[in-house]
Amino acid sequence: MTGRVLVLGGTAEARQLAARLVAAGADVLSSLAGRVADPPLPPGGVRVGGFGGVAGLTAALDGDPRPFAAVVDATHPFAATMTAHAAAAAAATGTPLLRLQRPGWTARPGDDWRWVDTLEQAAAAMTGHRCAFVTTGRQGLAAFAGLAAPCVVRSVDPPAPPLPPRATVVLDRGPFTVAGERALMVAHGVDVVVTKDSGGSMTAAKLTAARELGVPVVLVRRPPLPAGVPVVATVEEALAWLGR
Ligand code: NAP
Repeated sequence: MTGRVLVLGGTAEARQLAARLVAAGADVLSSLAGRVADPPLPPGGVRVGGFGGVAGLTAALDGDPRPFAAVVDATHPFAATMTAHAAAAAAATGTPLLRLQRPGWTARPGDDWRWVDTLEQAAAAMTGHRCAFVTTGRQGLAAFAGLAAPCVVRSVDPPAPPLPPRATVVLDRGPFTVAGERALMVAHGVDVVVTKDSGGSMTAAKLTAARELGVPVVLVRRPPLPAGVPVVATVEEALAWLGR
């Protein structure tokens, strides 16, 4: 790979890609949104904070004294705004862009999965349950604010109000184990799990625990990807694309 690479990050895959590129001697700048107080940092250059919309990212791609040969959008599958901005700014500047997005989860025998399109629909699907385990992340929790039953809300950093009135907040960062997820669900009497279809192994243990306990899982479908942007699922494929 020759030329500088901008990696839009905030995921384990983005950190792995930056590490592999730096190890290969490439010039890498990773970009983080700055949402998490103490994020794990990738090797190489790091910048933190929004660019200022499509115009800001376009200016960053155009105006940097060390031009970028390529952008890899390795943001989370649900970071749809950043992904759309990357597509628009790359098109405006003629910068090659790749989307690195891990595959979504696939149900196995014994799973009771219920798909919805939005967090609001996920919250509605909690009706009648005794205790929901809400693992959709700190952002968007307002959708669950009307949940009257007890629930467990897990996030990396403390969530801001509004929260469900009877929420127990658990602050933790993956990777999680099946035994740990099982214990947490049993301790709180969880009878439904809510998650985004984030994919990957770091947070998949709750799905196994739910299957073992016979607990249903409500999954929020991923937002669509921008048209015309090549997509790969693994760091290896991203490296191959960069080295093409
Ligand atoms: P988002 O809604 O798509 O983006 C909102 C704004 O945040 C963007 O317009 C951009 O601000 C800024 N931003 C997002 N990602 C950025 C990055 N990597 N570098 C610089 N600025 C970034 O994003 P989000 O869902 O809030 O996610 C924020 C970050 O958390 C992402 O890096 C994502 O990978 C990570 N993350 C998200 C989730 C999730 O469930 N959404 C889960 C785990 C990790 P400007 O318009 O000012 O450029």
